[in-house]
Amino acid sequence: MIATWPFGKEAVDVGAQAMRDGGTALDGVEQGIRRIEFLSSDGSVGLGGRPNAAGYAQLDACIMNGPNHGGGSVAGMEGIVHPITAARRVMEKTKHVMLVGEGARWFALEQGLKTVDVAKHADLKKKWVERQRDPEPGERGHDTIALLVLDANGDIAGGCSTSGAGGKLPGRVGDAPILGAGLYVDNTVGAAGATGLGENVMRHCASVMIVELMRQGMHPQAACEEVIHRIAARDPLGYDLHVCFIALDKSGRFGAAASSQRFPFAVGTGEKTEIHHVAQVTPR
Ligand code: ASP
Repeated sequence: MIATWPFGKEAVDVGAQAMRDGGTALDGVEQGIRRIEFLSSDGSVGLGGRPNAAGYAQLDACIMNGPNHGGGSVAGMEGIVHPITAARRVMEKTKHVMLVGEGARWFALEQGLKTVDVAKHADLKKKWVERQRDPEPGERGHDTIALLVLDANGDIAGGCSTSGAGGKLPGRVGDAPILGAGLYVDNTVGAAGATGLGENVMRHCASVMIVELMRQGMHPQAACEEVIHRIAARDPLGYDLHVCFIALDKSGRFGAAASSQRFPFAVGTGEKTEIHHVAQVTPR
């Protein structure tokens, strides 16, 4: 299992436990991400995440199941505690892949998913909006939990969830709920997930590109780095843009890369989970 950022360790541990309890890779993904959504642990995932320019959280999430190449996602959804579960229900209970905004919320409510009174989060949001006027040095204002799982049968599943870029325009959708951008799973090859500024990821369909490079024989590490080089070559910001990737292949090899910062991520074998760091990719 591999997951983005230090909170990925918690997601990996919870996901591994779900699988030890008899769950599938998909259950591991859902349970691991639910934990981070519940904790809203660094204010970038779930309802405790970063509010948009109008002061409230609009959440994005996506899930993919390798064995049947299933996919489901929700975008710009308000007031639902577990967007990853809403995404899984879209995949499993509808004939669609993606629901957005109020439609996603109605569907989640109809599915009996937990909701909260968004007004109760007003204090948190007010504090965050105030902090943006005088941001802490290094504060980036976005982050995603992306979690990729390879199970003992060789099946792969993946998911991601985020409140997206803080201060985004209401209605802005990032890369996380876009299959092939923030997440992609191909059960015959591997999976990739992204974090960083979604606009820089989705314009390049980065996750599907990483998986396709692995299909051609690249190690997950080389594939993640190659996609950063390709994006940097085209973007006016070059390597200064902010994108980070994780990838896992069918044989359990993994990789991660980041364009402009050290990127901590978590890797778990089911028995132990460790935080790894990758240095930023050096321009070639
Ligand atoms: N990719 C997310 C977005 O742009 C945020 C992040 O992962 O930093 O919505």
